[in-house]
Amino acid sequence: MSDAGGRAYLAIPGPSVMPERVLRAMHRSAPNIYEGALHEMTHTLIPDLKYVARTEGHATIYISNGHGAWEAALANVIAPGESVLMPATGRFGHGWAEMAEGLGAEVELIDFGRAAPLDPNRVEEALRADKEGRIKAVIATHVDTSSSVLNDMAGLRAAIDAAGHPALLMADCIASMGCDRFEMDAWGVDVAVTASQKGLMVPPGLGFVFFNDRAAEVRGRMERVSRYWDWVPRANPEIYYQYFGGTAPTHHLFALREALDMIREEGIEAIWARHERHARAIWAACETWGEGGPLRLNIPERAQRSRAVTSLRIGLPHGPRLRKWVEEHAGLTLGIGLGMSEEGDERGQGFFRLGHMGHVNAQMIMGLLGGIEAAFQALEIPRGRGALEAAAAELAQV
Ligand SMILES: *Cc1c(COP(=O)(O)O)cnc(C)c1O
Repeated sequence: MSDAGGRAYLAIPGPSVMPERVLRAMHRSAPNIYEGALHEMTHTLIPDLKYVARTEGHATIYISNGHGAWEAALANVIAPGESVLMPATGRFGHGWAEMAEGLGAEVELIDFGRAAPLDPNRVEEALRADKEGRIKAVIATHVDTSSSVLNDMAGLRAAIDAAGHPALLMADCIASMGCDRFEMDAWGVDVAVTASQKGLMVPPGLGFVFFNDRAAEVRGRMERVSRYWDWVPRANPEIYYQYFGGTAPTHHLFALREALDMIREEGIEAIWARHERHARAIWAACETWGEGGPLRLNIPERAQRSRAVTSLRIGLPHGPRLRKWVEEHAGLTLGIGLGMSEEGDERGQGFFRLGHMGHVNAQMIMGLLGGIEAAFQALEIPRGRGALEAAAAELAQV
């Protein structure tokens, strides 16, 4: 526990900081789930979810975490024995690929490692080599939350089209939606998945699947889809309970309504710009620290970095000591490194991550960086000077 008093700050890449407004919206007695205000409110969520995903397609809500949304998306378009292509970056792509395997799909994996984005040219080659058109979907992670790499989804669509291949493009936007720019329709993404606890600022427990008419056609040709994951009744409910395949997640829905109000008030473009400013401040500080010490950003190229999460390497013994110090003395919790080394290799402990998704403002970013600066001083970790000034200079450019 922190010796610091004050408000604790969980700066991990999800669950993200929950706004007071969202928490208050949940604090009420159970509503009638059979008729009335809850039904009216639920209908209003759908257009606002589509606004966040930038799509005119369909939006569905599942009572699940991100893993559930992964499975829901796959279950609607991939049958056992069919093939998917996963260009994996970092850890999360492997997770989605494993989910596909669990559903009986054949997975062709192209592994781009832990510190680089996917290369659409390699995907195009793999699709050209698929002469029989066996690959039914390219599944990819927009932002990989372990490496903090940002993948080019529009480039991936261009690669699929250049190969003249009919595969669907499916995107994991769990870390990125509401943080990094994402344009489902303009970028030609057929299916996008996200979850409630990151850019959407709601507690973990809701998964979302967006799909367009192309994906709906593919779903229509499926021999069968498990009842619970089937997106058809959820997208076009004739009776209210079909939205959720059972009892509505009542209090999560109140939270989501409030969070979507906040997103509408600020505007999605302004939200992306705010995340961009914050990310630049973090990058400026971390690059400055790195000039005089062991800290390195996992993704060297700025254009390939997420605006929602930053993965850093500082090595041993600094990584665990730094995280422990800020937790005990600054009320600040940083994310652990995830999937950055082979299992059991202690060098993975030399990584850590900063979550800067959702309900975050400039003073929180400076508090995050200031806490790390204090830890550097307390632990006498070598670092370049002037990191906080460099961060402030970025934040000054409003
Ligand atoms: C968080 C995350 C997941 C997993 O979500 P859970 O809610 O933990 O199941 C999957 N993909 C990405 C990119 C994520 O950031």
